[in-house]
Amino acid sequence: MMQRVLITGGAGFIGSHLAERLLDAGYQVAVLDNLSTGRFENIAHLVGRPGFSFAIDSIENEIVLDRLASESDAIVHLAAAVGVKLVVERPVHTIETNIMGTEAVLRVAARYRARVLIASTSEVYGKGARTPFREDDDVVLGPTSRNRWAYAASKMVDEFLALAYHQKYELPAVIVRLFNTVGPRQVGRYGMVIPRFMRQALAGEPITVYGDGSQSRCFCDVSDTVRALEALMVHPQAAGRVFNVGSTEEVTILELAQRVKAIAHSDSPITFIPYEEAYAPGFEDMKRRVPDISRLHELTGWQPRYRLDDILMRVKNWLQDSETRV
Ligand code: UDP
Repeated sequence: MMQRVLITGGAGFIGSHLAERLLDAGYQVAVLDNLSTGRFENIAHLVGRPGFSFAIDSIENEIVLDRLASESDAIVHLAAAVGVKLVVERPVHTIETNIMGTEAVLRVAARYRARVLIASTSEVYGKGARTPFREDDDVVLGPTSRNRWAYAASKMVDEFLALAYHQKYELPAVIVRLFNTVGPRQVGRYGMVIPRFMRQALAGEPITVYGDGSQSRCFCDVSDTVRALEALMVHPQAAGRVFNVGSTEEVTILELAQRVKAIAHSDSPITFIPYEEAYAPGFEDMKRRVPDISRLHELTGWQPRYRLDDILMRVKNWLQDSETRV
């Protein structure tokens, strides 16, 4: 019986929603977060709830990580350097955090035979042209001279390592490739498009579409995402496998800007910003990103419940209620 769950990165956007969901389901939840991109206020409302505990520290602190792992039946490893903007700006930090952090988590998970869920990313599909993306597709990344690919490559190393631990030590490790995820508590500071567009629309500022806006994405509500994480965490046949988690409702970024504008009843103009200005020169964006979610659906019955317009409404309401406008 799995009862105690450690969430690394549990004060982050996805982690804090997962913590809440697992507490509601009766689990004991421990959060480990160094508050680099996470925020204490994301979990402040959970403090004092029976079964909840937290430690503000880095996953690089082996003593703390060891103790927390020794008290856990499962570890959900979400702590990472996230967001394309951060990755382009701080490549050393990204590579080190993502590779060394996962290695540390796998080592302690193996030590205590804890089940472990490793968060990977749709970025690992790189420039794959065949959509929707399936877990066993070949991968084409750009050259090492482009920082962007450091993120995908570091997460691929994480995946290889987790699968190797599964093979060699029979560690029950599950890999989830998270596609674009959105919802309350996500901040635009690290580049994520929906909180940025919604904040711009509500403030009457120009909505900044990068490139020509013809690139497309599928946005999954965070409450759907954490439902998938819980299902995979407990499913006995998930171990040693990779799963896409995301929505399949595709939208171009230009259409997204128009929908945000309409939902916010905003007069903001939509402006187009060249990629070179938005990111670094030579930046390559992904043209389309759509997951094939049949593997996850077949194993667990999961499918997303929220549609894009509902998600946008939730983000709008959260931004309007939130003290900390982003
Ligand atoms: N984007 C945009 N304007 C912004 C922020 C992002 O047009 O202010 C675009 C970005 O270039 C990408 C898409 O929105 O094509 C999604 O960006 P995000 O950083 O949210 O996620 P990604 O899919 O790049 O990981």
